[in-house]
Amino acid sequence: MPQSEFDIIEHYFKQQQVSRDDVIFGIGDDAAVVTIPADRQLVIALDTLVAGVHFPEQTPAEDIGYKTLAVNLSDLAAMGAEPAWFTLALTMPEADQKWLKGFSHGLFTLASECGMQLIGGDTTQGALAISIQVAGYVPPGKALRRCGARQGDLIYVTGTLGDAALGLRCLLQPDKEPFDSAAVARLNRPQPRLAFGRAVRDIATACIDISDGLLADLEHILSASRVGARLDRQALPLSDSVQARCEQDEEHYSLALYGGDDYELCMTVPPEKRSAIEAIATQQNIRFSQIGTIERQAGIRLYEADRLCRLKSRYGYEHFAG
Ligand code: ADP
Ligand code: MG
Repeated sequence: MPQSEFDIIEHYFKQQQVSRDDVIFGIGDDAAVVTIPADRQLVIALDTLVAGVHFPEQTPAEDIGYKTLAVNLSDLAAMGAEPAWFTLALTMPEADQKWLKGFSHGLFTLASECGMQLIGGDTTQGALAISIQVAGYVPPGKALRRCGARQGDLIYVTGTLGDAALGLRCLLQPDKEPFDSAAVARLNRPQPRLAFGRAVRDIATACIDISDGLLADLEHILSASRVGARLDRQALPLSDSVQARCEQDEEHYSLALYGGDDYELCMTVPPEKRSAIEAIATQQNIRFSQIGTIERQAGIRLYEADRLCRLKSRYGYEHFAG
């Protein structure tokens, strides 16, 4: 049975677990109405996922729903914000019931975990693309930014790097790369570091989430802060799967250096705050690795012991880069 735009909204997007006190009017009017707490600043981000660009066409609908919200939440995590509500712009080629059921299920699974309410959106026909706009709160002046790194700060990352890129390789080149379910799960179900981002709000001097690859995203911190970095290749946090591949062929370090979609946090921390921030990571049971230090000289220098490693001239994926 074909469903109209309005049936789709009613059936798949109005049904959700979370109902927040600060949402006065959600889906149903021309726009939503929310109350913003007097003692908070609003933090807003938007990310779009396009089929075939941001995820392989055959990705399960449930993973697409989960991932689109997750990558947006990761931006709130990097700002140290507490998630509140979101809007959804969904463009799809046809109203496929099974797809919509999976998509909304994946989306609301993560939304419920984070106490986020869907308050509105837009539904249109076209090539598959999904935009989500998220909003969250921080105490005034407490948002983490990219521009605060200082010479001598320690550079840290959460979790492990390169797994999502390995997952993508398994899917795109199954003849070359044996299927690794943990890596594919990292690709399709990123876990935004929300609690950690909030906990380090007063400690980190700069923070970014790793969506385009470690070097590409670290470079954003460096240019915003007008500093450079020295990194230690042996300190890169790698899962056993990525580690094993790097031991076979050091080319595989590129998974961790340039691979996107990990959604870990990269941050800089003054040396005197080392034990404070490491204690938070221990408390939250998060792997947390110092991978280098901030230097005055611009650019990134990667060392393997005393040897300077060659880096690519372009660090990560860029749209329109040719
Ligand atoms: P308008 O034509 O006035 O822009 P729409 O018909 O697009 O309104 O949307 C009707 C209501 O449904 C609005 O409240 C809108 O925010 C909501 N809505 C539309 N699409 C979605 C969606 N994909 N997810 C959540 N809410 C949606
Ligand atoms: Mg509309």
